[in-house]
Amino acid sequence: MTENQRIAELIFGQLENTADDYEKEYPPLQLGEGQRVTRIAPSPTGYLHLGVLFTALINRRTADATNGMFYLRVEDTDAKREVEGGMADIINGLVRFGVNIDEGYVSPTATKGNYGPYKQSERDGIYHVYVKKLMEEGYAYPCFCTEEQLAETRAVQEASKERTGYYGKYAQCRRLSYDDIKQRLDAGMPYVVRLCSPGDENRRITFDDGIKGKIEMPENDEDFVLLKSDGIPTYHFAHAVDDHLMRTTHVIRGDEWISSVPKHIQLFKLLGFKAPKYCHVSPIMKEENGSKRKLSKRKDPEAAVHFYAEQGYPADSVTEYLLTIANSDFEDWRRANPTLSNKEFKLNLKKMSVSGALFDIAKLNDVSKNVISKFTAKRVVDELCDWAKEYDTEFYSLLSRDTEYAEKLFNIDRDVPKPRKDIAKWNEAKEYAAYFYDELYNNNYELPEKINSKDAVEVLKKYKDIYNPNDNKDEWFARIKEICPECGFCPEVKEYKKNPEAYKGHVGDAATIIRVAITGRTNSPDLCSIMALLGKNKVCERIENAIAHFEEV
Ligand code: GLU
Repeated sequence: MTENQRIAELIFGQLENTADDYEKEYPPLQLGEGQRVTRIAPSPTGYLHLGVLFTALINRRTADATNGMFYLRVEDTDAKREVEGGMADIINGLVRFGVNIDEGYVSPTATKGNYGPYKQSERDGIYHVYVKKLMEEGYAYPCFCTEEQLAETRAVQEASKERTGYYGKYAQCRRLSYDDIKQRLDAGMPYVVRLCSPGDENRRITFDDGIKGKIEMPENDEDFVLLKSDGIPTYHFAHAVDDHLMRTTHVIRGDEWISSVPKHIQLFKLLGFKAPKYCHVSPIMKEENGSKRKLSKRKDPEAAVHFYAEQGYPADSVTEYLLTIANSDFEDWRRANPTLSNKEFKLNLKKMSVSGALFDIAKLNDVSKNVISKFTAKRVVDELCDWAKEYDTEFYSLLSRDTEYAEKLFNIDRDVPKPRKDIAKWNEAKEYAAYFYDELYNNNYELPEKINSKDAVEVLKKYKDIYNPNDNKDEWFARIKEICPECGFCPEVKEYKKNPEAYKGHVGDAATIIRVAITGRTNSPDLCSIMALLGKNKVCERIENAIAHFEEV
């Protein structure tokens, strides 16, 4: 046995499995040409953040573009920062917002696939095998330095203007002998396991980032920590072992990890693994007072995915918007393919923004209005009910009392070549639909400026007499025209424009008076359809109430 093997044995004892066993247990996948395996690897240290949803979507669509596979791994190595319910929130949020998961944690309580366990806290046996292997080969060692010692080293480095860190001549525990180590272990001294880096900071590594292109950095020469004193791996080490054994082909992650790539590439090499393709996603940015900054978990409510659920943005709208900021050609694709599902769009990592996509809620609202305008009325009511059940129970009980009626009201001006785009999110639907429900209806009878109450009364009275609930659209409009001359309104808009002083208004204005009486709005979807759905009794009642109101003022 070499000294290194003896040290490894001293630290880890006999382990049940070898690295070869794991290679056999988790064999390379039989992938077709170009097929990609991607993943999202969240830590349960908070709730689902838009940045994680965005990165997950990029991973999902990268796998989809090659008929590949996307899995979820739970990175719970930091128990201190764990937030209760965090992981369930993250997984449920991803699925709810359209990122379905093929393997790993497919729901908070269920896993799928043969490459697990998919939770890092259940993989310590695996990590130890690989650290032991590195130690036997002289690439890892136990380090007994205390916090104070590390702080002293740092102070010395700072005083001499040297790079801080545990490397080269400053890596004191690198040179401990078997006997030194045994003595310390016998004395019960705590330790971490560090990499014994063969790197040289004067040499450079290059790698081709799938998003940012060619990147060159100094080689890693730091003896960074692989296992913490409680035997739990650091992110760096767990990443190398897990992404290798889970056969990830593309590691698409936030670009806060880009500076760690030299460490990761070195680890893959020392472990004898093929490094994955790295793709670093720039953070989502926000414009504030003319300058750009990162969307912030603390400052921006829209950074939390809960925000979109609460406001009632359909999952499709959020996906569609995230694709808009992910790939600059998505909007052109959408224009060329207005009816296709966005799943058909082939995401291209090379087309992602390097400086960070800009988040713009007004744009999200536009995108969402467009998305909702293409929904069938049934889908509107289904999704709206799901939302209202959770966030507006009053509205939910009205909608669910008669969903057929709800579908009819949302169908007005919907199934047409140019549907209206009134609703961006479900929390706007109640206001939109208010005049269809007596419980919500509240008319403050606001007329356009050029029309006075007296004229309104006249139009409404005349209209009431000839209103026929069985009219079709043309007949309905003809009837409003019919009352125009007697009320001093011009039945033809063109005529009116030639000589506006001669009239109180035109047929459109007369219709507006009726619209205000029935809906309380000067602008609404097709009034004839609205009246048909409300039915004769309600229409007459509302006209009478309006007459009474305008007579009083
Ligand atoms: N757990 C890491 C994080 O949440 C994962 C990074 C990665 O995707 O590798 O930042």
